[in-house]
Amino acid sequence: MSSSARIPATLIAGDGIGPEIVESAVAVMEALGSPFEWDRQEAGAAAMKAAGDPLPAATLDSIRRTRLALKGPLETPSGGGWRSSNVRLREEFRLFANVRPARTIIPGGRFDNIDLLLIRENLEGLYIGHEHYVQIDDDPHAVAMATGINTRQGCRHILEYAFETAIALGRKKVTVVHKANIMKALTGIFLETAQQMHAERYKDRIAMDTIIVDACAMKLVLNPWQFDTLVTTNLFGDILSDLTAGLVGGLGMAPGANIGADAAIFEAVHGSAPDIAGKGLANPTALLLAAAQMLDHVKHHESANRLRKAIDDTLNVDQVRTGDLGGKAGTREYTQALVARIKQG
Ligand code: NAD
Repeated sequence: MSSSARIPATLIAGDGIGPEIVESAVAVMEALGSPFEWDRQEAGAAAMKAAGDPLPAATLDSIRRTRLALKGPLETPSGGGWRSSNVRLREEFRLFANVRPARTIIPGGRFDNIDLLLIRENLEGLYIGHEHYVQIDDDPHAVAMATGINTRQGCRHILEYAFETAIALGRKKVTVVHKANIMKALTGIFLETAQQMHAERYKDRIAMDTIIVDACAMKLVLNPWQFDTLVTTNLFGDILSDLTAGLVGGLGMAPGANIGADAAIFEAVHGSAPDIAGKGLANPTALLLAAAQMLDHVKHHESANRLRKAIDDTLNVDQVRTGDLGGKAGTREYTQALVARIKQG
């Protein structure tokens, strides 16, 4: 492919295992004849260390220009410290939808034939970071408070995206996950909006049902096959998508796309895995599946399908697997096996 035909895209290595899995993705994408021309930028703890800012202006400028990024995980300190760069990126580029597919790639596990699509609202709810403490007597942290905000417009936006995406992909049903029995306003607005939109615009095009989040978690474990596409608010989506990742082999297998009107950022669902960082053990599959979503996003469907097939064949035919999947391969060996598969054709 000539360089003039290439699509500029921002590449963020990130923290912990980030640089290892991002290098793997770059090598695999290169073998695939990827259309992307990478603009390498920093974010997270690495950027904090290098530039004193977990989300430097150069990184934001790059994404503003390319409107497309592949991103390794970014560390966020728990409790104090800086606000999550992931959340800031989603807010900055209004990435309102987080699309997290969970599909069985290695058959014969505890759960076979899983093919779920979880669509999470990405900008509102309890993630907005409106938190504070109240001092009582000499305890400055005697009371901790958080505000959640869900707007009618935000609900409509994500629900429309979920219905339209499910219909476009030929899926059978959208399940709306909420907690409107307890958080009657905060998640009631989401449930109500879904029911109204479905009745008015979608009832003849796709089935919809609703479920309370705690029951949903239990049913996803007991019988995940009863679900197809799930749509939910920010925090519930965060938690349930780790659950659905667990159904298909763990966090090493779960990709995510953050979609906005003007930009899209692709990443693995998992974090920086500090316990295995720098050891060459990380499974890059989740990030590679995110790269496949990114190829689909720019309508390079054939390359996306070749990449997914190479992953299937490497894991199942060649049986080259990383430790989290019970295999013995390191990141590099698995990457080499994938590259060989892609080159075979
Ligand atoms: P984590 O996802 O990093 O790790 C959880 C467990 O899964 C660990 O045992 C880890 O070794 C394992 N794991 C994760 N990815 C793996 C992979 N690709 N291959 C093999 N094993 C893998 O979760 P955590 O430890 O709670 O979070 C660590 C840091 O990551 C925190 O700072 C958190 O804020 C951040 N985080 C970032 C993102 C993101 O950038 N999108 C998402 C979640 C967490």
